[in-house]
Amino acid sequence: MSFEKQRVTVLGSTGSIGVNTLDVIARHPERFEVFALSAATQTDLMLAQCAQFKPQYAVMASEPHARLLAEKIKANQLPVQILWAQDALEMIASHELVDTVMAAIVGAAGLGPCMAAAKSGKRLLLANKEALVVGGEVFMRAVREGGARLLPIDSEHSAIFQSLPEDPAVWPRRIEKIMLTSSGGPFRARDPATLCDVTPEQACVHPNFSMGRKISVDSATMMNKALEVIEAKYLFGVVPEQIEVVIHPQQIIHSMVQFHDASVMAQLGTPDMRVPIAYGLSWPERIESGTARLDFARMAAMTFEVPDFQRFPCLPLAWESLRAPSGTCVVLNAANEVAVAAFLDRQIRFDHIHRVNHATLEAVALSQVTDIESLLALDEQARRMAVQIAGKLEA
Ligand code: NAD
Ligand code: MG
Repeated sequence: MSFEKQRVTVLGSTGSIGVNTLDVIARHPERFEVFALSAATQTDLMLAQCAQFKPQYAVMASEPHARLLAEKIKANQLPVQILWAQDALEMIASHELVDTVMAAIVGAAGLGPCMAAAKSGKRLLLANKEALVVGGEVFMRAVREGGARLLPIDSEHSAIFQSLPEDPAVWPRRIEKIMLTSSGGPFRARDPATLCDVTPEQACVHPNFSMGRKISVDSATMMNKALEVIEAKYLFGVVPEQIEVVIHPQQIIHSMVQFHDASVMAQLGTPDMRVPIAYGLSWPERIESGTARLDFARMAAMTFEVPDFQRFPCLPLAWESLRAPSGTCVVLNAANEVAVAAFLDRQIRFDHIHRVNHATLEAVALSQVTDIESLLALDEQARRMAVQIAGKLEA
């Protein structure tokens, strides 16, 4: 069989999702070609990736890092063009030679290149959940108008996507409920009274995955699941009442869809992000992902629990925000990005993350956002407020 090679841009190639994406791509040199890579600061890993994948472009977040990388690229005589900053990210996400964009930058910083890929009709593999949480309807409109194909990479949303019929037009008639599974994070069974003592190192140890620091903290507060509830609403066109969260510590079932006849479809597998990444890259086909197969004979029990909103007060903010004006999700995400950064910097306590999120939602006037300008203005305003609120708390 012969294939037209897919040309891929990987945004955030030095991160956990980026590295896993390149691992899957390297298994299929006959199918994929790397067009461009991007990273914030890690020039050594970027150099190694450029040597292996020979992209046309490598984009760093700032000029000093781009210059540092350019010296190394020159010393190694690699034919890679080095660029930096937002315009360059948007260029490699929308370039006419690109078929597929893996969006694996962390945070709302990834919104610009995601919008560029959406507007130019790319196959957009979305790991960067914050971009959709912040972009909401504005993002989805760009996907529709640009004729892009949005494929979820978050394992839960990939599981739901894999459990649904191929034609999205029938989803509203079929879906009764979406059930997002969650590991419960590292503090599922910890005494809530001791959450004030959690260190960044403890919060970044996830039971089943090795992930970036921001999503690791989000998993520990369950804010990650809150972001995923919001993400699910936009991806699958359901109302907040149709989304439920169930704790499943073994992470064998990656999420489920309940249909109107009471039937439930689930996707199962070893917890490894290369499965949803390979599915996004190859959809509607399937390719080898390099992941260990499930061994049912040796599998321990699968258990399920209802999440405790007292222990995880960030989680209910998802439904509350979805019922409020659309800008509320922008404010929630901005506050959380500020709070997590402050916690990782040891400026605030772990249990203060929720306080910053909650207080910022109370302090900022929540409005409807219908375009990218009003959305970015609200994001900035919420960040300023969250910094002020976090500054009044003590570590
Ligand atoms: P990470 O921190 O490991 O990697 C982030 C990548 O983005 C790095 O390459 C970094 O250099 C780049 N980056 C960071 N800030 C940037 C900026 N301001 N401008 C440009 N580039 C920037 O994070 P990750 O764990 O790979 O997660 C990436 C995204 O995927 C997040 O949105 C996360 O929620 C989502 N996600 C991750 C996992 C996982 O298992 N790691 C699972 C599901 C979803
Ligand atoms: Mg997930």
